[in-house]
Amino acid sequence: MLEIKNIEVYYGYIRALKGVSLRVEEGKIVSLLGSNGAGKSTTLKTVSGLLKPKHGTIHFQGKDITHMDSSGIVKLGIVQCPEGRQLFPDLSVKENLLTGAITRKNRKKITEDLNWVYELFPILRERKNQLAGTLSGGEQQMLAIGRALMAAPRLLMLDEPSLGLAPKIVEQIFDLLVRLNSERGLTILLVEQNANAALRISSYAYILEVGSIALEGDAQELLKSDVVRQKYLGA
Ligand code: ATP
Repeated sequence: MLEIKNIEVYYGYIRALKGVSLRVEEGKIVSLLGSNGAGKSTTLKTVSGLLKPKHGTIHFQGKDITHMDSSGIVKLGIVQCPEGRQLFPDLSVKENLLTGAITRKNRKKITEDLNWVYELFPILRERKNQLAGTLSGGEQQMLAIGRALMAAPRLLMLDEPSLGLAPKIVEQIFDLLVRLNSERGLTILLVEQNANAALRISSYAYILEVGSIALEGDAQELLKSDVVRQKYLGA
């Protein structure tokens, strides 16, 4: 579904991605792991069209999107749920959800999806008129995911959804990702520092180290591997 080939991305003279290649097959959950500054967010931003690679290509469902702008990429169904939520704190929960559907036209479908998001996250329905900035961290993360779902993604890319959340909330959010994947067939590219939790729900994973893929493989195999356990899982 998504095929990134050998992309190099620069910030000024600094080469943040040094030839990264990865694939996400339709219907799978794939993780992109790595420590701070490895280039995980840079990879997602490049797929979203917010950054442009100097070399390499990105294809989505066979179409070359390397030079497409970010709004065209969203319309194709690639939706990013950014790190740090990036909600509108002074808008209500409902208004934030509707901003996710801004590029869509079918009103009836938008209302259906709004109700669907409220079913997934009953707390958001309860708090639909509350200002987003006054939600707890976990509720804000749920709202960020809900807003991304309102954009009708085919590929949902999440940037560190577990960041700063209590283990119980992380578990709830990861359970929901599994449900979205199995019940709706949603394809997910998950960026995480919490390698353990991410590998458990993934079928395949890539590990980035300073701008290059250091390791990749079947997620359950990686969970069992001694090298991965010692180096990345703190075991
Ligand atoms: P984190 O988990 O801390 O977000 P990451 O793996 O997502 O890390 P990136 O944010 O992609 O890492 O950063 C990769 C490299 O690019 C880092 O060395 C970072 O300092 C650098 N970088 C990121 N954004 C910029 C920017 N706007 N200007 C210059 N350098 C940047």
